[in-house]
Amino acid sequence: MTETLILPADEAGIAEAAALIARGLPVAVPTETVYGLAGDATSGTAVAAIYAAKGRPSFNPLIAHVTDLEMAARIAILSPLAHQLAGHFWPGPLTMVLPAAERSPIASLATAGLTTIAVRMPAHPVMRALIAAVGGPLAAPSANASGTISATRAGHVARSLGGRIALVLDGGATAVGIESTIVAVEPDRLRLLRPGSITAAMLEEATGIAVDTQDNGAIEAPGQMTSHYAPSKPVRLDAETARQDEFHIGFGSIPGDASLSLTGDLNEAAARLFDLLHRADEASAGAIAVAPIPATGLGAAIHDRLKRAAAPR
Ligand code: AMP
Ligand code: MG
Repeated sequence: MTETLILPADEAGIAEAAALIARGLPVAVPTETVYGLAGDATSGTAVAAIYAAKGRPSFNPLIAHVTDLEMAARIAILSPLAHQLAGHFWPGPLTMVLPAAERSPIASLATAGLTTIAVRMPAHPVMRALIAAVGGPLAAPSANASGTISATRAGHVARSLGGRIALVLDGGATAVGIESTIVAVEPDRLRLLRPGSITAAMLEEATGIAVDTQDNGAIEAPGQMTSHYAPSKPVRLDAETARQDEFHIGFGSIPGDASLSLTGDLNEAAARLFDLLHRADEASAGAIAVAPIPATGLGAAIHDRLKRAAAPR
């Protein structure tokens, strides 16, 4: 149990929030859509701590929040079409799914191992001040326990996440109240992945490009993306030892060829999961074996991801 402080979202509160985030701890913060649970998007363990606090049973890619176009360009490739959308709707409740930048500093857990990244430039002064104080992008899903509704007031956050996070910045009720619109920006088309207050008609009007609202292929249901990263090789789970031609991903007392966490720390394991899956995929071995991992706490989300990775394709 952590004691959850609620502080006014003033200068002192924002400084306290930035200090907690620098220590890898997530903080609830108002945005113009709903309250977000913000953490350092460049730190795998900070992102793992967001999942742990929410109790999320799976790793969905998170939105990276930036203050300006320069910060956006450090993490994503903005095409002319993306710039056009940014000109119309940023800062504001529009999230763009873009190709990740070549040397993006974003933690692989934040993008769930994908080569695309969801980026938003929020308008809310508190969220903007917090990103500026931290000095880099913040990953922030909605600040509510997994499976419960989003929070539009500090009190909602405290009821949902009280005892699980250190701080809620109270900036009053949020203005929009529903999550940001998500649009996948492709070279010559736009796909609406999640409807929000910025409508398909508004996106069409701004760009002159038809928005595909049907073929949202990337997401079958919230949190169930078919485009999730999966290795190209067979994956065998609960493997205490490796067979011939397997790259062995270890955990705890089983070191393997590379370990998710030698100390058996699930937070560290979550933070390293996608990096190690990529590494195993690129190794010369023809298959991947993964040591047993407990299904408690963050282990449930790790299991969910590994089961998808191991599913026959
Ligand atoms: P939340 O952070 O709770 O607002 O949810 C973020 C949403 O963005 C989820 O529905 C994700 O599936 C979606 N999302 C984030 N990154 C990507 C991506 N790279 N491609 C497609 N959808 C994404
Ligand atoms: Mg949510």
